[in-house]
Amino acid sequence: MKQHTPITVAYGDGIGPEIMAATLHILQEAGARLEIETIEVGEKVYLAGNTAGIDARAWESLRRTKVFLKAPITTPQGGGYKSLNVTTRKMLGLYANVRPCVSYHPFVETKHPAMDVVIVRENEEDLYAGIEYRQSVDVTQALKIISRPGTEKIVRYAFEYAVRNGRKKVTCFTKDNILKVTDGLFHKIFDEVGAQYPTVEKEHWIVDIGAAKLADTPEAFDVVVLPNLYGDVLSDVAAQIAGSVGLAGSANIGDHAAMFEAIHGSAPRRAGQNLANPSGLLLAAVMMLVHIGQPDVAERVHNAWLRTIEDGVHTYDIYDANTSTQKVGTREFAQAVVARLGQRPQTLRAVSYAGAPRQTSVSVVSPRAAVAKRLVGVDVFLDWTAGGPDDLGRTLEQLAGGDLKLSMISNRGVKVYPDGLPETFTVDHWRCRFVARDGTSSVSHAQIVALLQRVAGAGLDFIKTEHLYTFDGQRGYSMAQGE
Ligand code: NAD
Repeated sequence: MKQHTPITVAYGDGIGPEIMAATLHILQEAGARLEIETIEVGEKVYLAGNTAGIDARAWESLRRTKVFLKAPITTPQGGGYKSLNVTTRKMLGLYANVRPCVSYHPFVETKHPAMDVVIVRENEEDLYAGIEYRQSVDVTQALKIISRPGTEKIVRYAFEYAVRNGRKKVTCFTKDNILKVTDGLFHKIFDEVGAQYPTVEKEHWIVDIGAAKLADTPEAFDVVVLPNLYGDVLSDVAAQIAGSVGLAGSANIGDHAAMFEAIHGSAPRRAGQNLANPSGLLLAAVMMLVHIGQPDVAERVHNAWLRTIEDGVHTYDIYDANTSTQKVGTREFAQAVVARLGQRPQTLRAVSYAGAPRQTSVSVVSPRAAVAKRLVGVDVFLDWTAGGPDDLGRTLEQLAGGDLKLSMISNRGVKVYPDGLPETFTVDHWRCRFVARDGTSSVSHAQIVALLQRVAGAGLDFIKTEHLYTFDGQRGYSMAQGE
């Protein structure tokens, strides 16, 4: 007998227990070789006073089995509760969020009958680092973090996914026409890693027009790789325009563990009524079966599911009098899939996972290159309301000292000194850029500390500094608009 694979299962909240029971019933009938450990996460754990929604025993199980099949959970209203999903992804290093978005025309209503897109979203970085500050009365700020290794991991994952799954093209979306440093790095690494995959077609779109194109003509895309925030937004758009968010599953893959879940939430209003569609969780479980090396079972389940959809056996969310034959509940849907195990769809394309490589992580990160890093200045941010840009400029010119000079002041990214425009709107948050007086020499930490002492001594409220570096002579910071 083949060995059983231990997995950790959470039944979740709302419709979670019903769709998990339906999913596990189908897996069991299909012959999945699983040793299931059940953990409690979510609402009950939150309300018992654990703000993370997950306890030590659950972590212990997850770290041991390394495979998590998770039903949706309810995050209680009110402050203080941390997102269980974000915590799990980050603690377990699940850097790749993979979401296939497929339309099932003509059996599920969609405007995009030929859509078959896989969204590969970076899962750990970007604005989701969650590093935010209020720095003045009027201004808040969030830190967008894009790292070279983090980007290399996700981009390589997307290309490996394409090669392993017979996909032809990988498209990258960024906003590097504006975010030249952060999104610029993501795009650059996409080009570098992409060059190692000569058989895969590559393209880059600016995210705004790319998103418009994806929503309008999704059949033009194949695999799409994106930084976290754009990926979060566009993966929901992609799932919805394919037919229904109720049909999509997702995998969260890391070097050490993986989590599989439906993309929808716990739909509390539908709970306990045998109404919910278990398809999203079931398709996530199919990805899990491939991941743990049971592609034969994955294929049986997926093809039986396609046949069920094709036969018009539909839950309320996708039921349509024109295309459906039967409106069924969660349990009856699962029974219909079980009854079709061993069958294949006749109109929809059947899936084949025979010999499918496992979706395991491929996070090879290039060694750090030797780079000459040089400190060339500092941006001192001030909370200041005592006058206009020229007043501040005159004060800071005095404080710059003999070795540094004030090169410019910007407000919300726009240069306001020297030679700003009176029309420019300003707030209480000023970026004051100091560089070496001769414009070319390096600057030392000691010079910056002395400058800050003079700034503080003058009674100015400096709220943060950002050092200006060059790397092999390339600027590692943005210029102000108009600088
Ligand atoms: P939701 O996805 O739960 O529901 C949105 C709509 O879709 C509702 O009308 C619902 O009836 C319908 N729907 C969702 N899944 C369905 C299914 N399987 N079958 C049939 N209909 C389905 O989103 P929401 O209402 O914004 O959130 C409800 C709760 O879920 C919140 O507490 C939220 O925090 C949580 N949530 C959890 C996850 C997760 O655990 N991964 C993800 C998203 C939301």
